[in-house]
Amino acid sequence: MQYSYHADYFVPLPPSHPFPMAKYPLLFERLRAAGLVGERDLIEPAEAALEDLRLVHTEDYLGQLTAGALDAAAVRRIGVPWSPALWRRSRLAVQGTLEAARAALDDGLAANLAGGTHHAFPGHGEGFCVLNDVAVAIRALQRDARVRRALVIDLDVHQGNGTAAIFENDASVFTFSMHGERNYPTRKMYSTLDVGLGDGVGDDEYLTLLRRHLDAIFAGFVPDVVFYLAGVDPARGDRYGRLALSDQGLRLRERCVLEACGSRGLPVVITIAGGYAPTPQRTAELHSIVFQEADALTRRSSARAGSTDSWDAR
Ligand SMILES: [Zn+2]
Repeated sequence: MQYSYHADYFVPLPPSHPFPMAKYPLLFERLRAAGLVGERDLIEPAEAALEDLRLVHTEDYLGQLTAGALDAAAVRRIGVPWSPALWRRSRLAVQGTLEAARAALDDGLAANLAGGTHHAFPGHGEGFCVLNDVAVAIRALQRDARVRRALVIDLDVHQGNGTAAIFENDASVFTFSMHGERNYPTRKMYSTLDVGLGDGVGDDEYLTLLRRHLDAIFAGFVPDVVFYLAGVDPARGDRYGRLALSDQGLRLRERCVLEACGSRGLPVVITIAGGYAPTPQRTAELHSIVFQEADALTRRSSARAGSTDSWDAR
């Protein structure tokens, strides 16, 4: 399984800043130490081409980002101070998702150890998101005729409002967002399927709903690729999440999504999206669960080589 990662995914922020930027290198080191990511599995992305970003983002917005000319209100809305390093980081992460998507189409499963910046709209960023990596990747794959239909499974606790808006009138992309109904963003956009959860929802209710909705989605929509936003902010104790998934609940969630796709032979691109545990170490630990499950599933698929329902049979 291939992983996109770049050391410059990390950009220093002021010490009091709420965004846990340290989670990127911490997650990478954790996966490397566990033997999940080796040298041969690594994709080091370059910065996404402006030509690709234009498939989703407006010329105005891209021009302001390039020139460092966002006004104060636009920067406040993003919630992270603009810097040349942040602009570079945003483009690296978009390319990381695009390259992971290409690898997933070849191998069945791949990941970007960043991405899932689903609050970015064509003409503005918000909620710590500058560019919408998943939307750009889908548009680039469609342009290159590598896919026609895409499914976005967004389980970050916040609604994927930017992604929903971008694909609202596009039947070739199914956007599924399961999120905290009372959480940010206050004004929700329309995904193809929105499931808004009440505060405090725990493992059983969450997993029951997830299974039911995934079954219904796959009964009516056949994608060529799946983008999974595996945000870990539904975990109990998250600073922003308001839900209460246990570590085991989160593990079962990842298994449920990956098996639902794997059993149908669908390529999956994993992006990590949000997570705001009390420490960046803990956040990285929670993010690592999806990769442990992906690794385990890949091994099970290899062991079943020859079976028609596994990624390796593709
Ligand atoms: Zn989130």
